[in-house]
Amino acid sequence: MKIYTDKRLLSCGLIGGTLSRHSGNMREIANQIPVYKELGLNPQHILHFHQIHSDTIISISSPQGAQEISQKPVQDADAWLLSPFPSNWGAAIVTADCVPLFLWDDTGSYAALAHCGWRGVVQGLPGKTARELLQVTPRLHLNAWLGPHIQACCFEVQEDVAKQFSADALIHKNGKIFVDLNFEIKRQLTQADVPEKNIQTPYYCTCGDKENFFSWRRDHEKNLLLSFLYKP
Ligand SMILES: [Zn+2]
Repeated sequence: MKIYTDKRLLSCGLIGGTLSRHSGNMREIANQIPVYKELGLNPQHILHFHQIHSDTIISISSPQGAQEISQKPVQDADAWLLSPFPSNWGAAIVTADCVPLFLWDDTGSYAALAHCGWRGVVQGLPGKTARELLQVTPRLHLNAWLGPHIQACCFEVQEDVAKQFSADALIHKNGKIFVDLNFEIKRQLTQADVPEKNIQTPYYCTCGDKENFFSWRRDHEKNLLLSFLYKP
């Protein structure tokens, strides 16, 4: 199993990251279960939602709350707020080009996992998620990691999409327009008071790296990568 992750998650007491395509298509929850088992995580304690490219956040603040959500039919949303993060629970999202955004504090007690497609980004989902997390205690020291997603090298857009971003998130090259999602998400996070030095944006391009990732843009297939965040 190949997991892209940020070492800071583990040092803050959390397990999480994004799996490479070698683990298979993670669209169905049933396909995710062997992964959780292999990692020693309880599959029944991993929360799922139905992603709709919105700015809707589901907030979990207790083991009881997590239990309730896990027993209800899946809801429409694009971000999990785990605040405080109940032990022995976790949350999952699936992506193929969209950004898996991880946010957490130094103690691993407050965290969020968001599915940020370009539509979620222009609706301000990254900033909104960070602000909601900081509402608990404005003195939280937040960290952020952006998992594998489509990078500016491949994210060419037409004018209709480009005009929804600010000019400095766009790259013009050979008459084409590309969107830099890292730039825009980093801007939203810093505006929400996440220190810039705590935001890691490694350059893993789902579209450009066929060996490791699924990409909607490249393949137009319904294969999805799994990202998860779990507090042991
Ligand atoms: Zn690329």
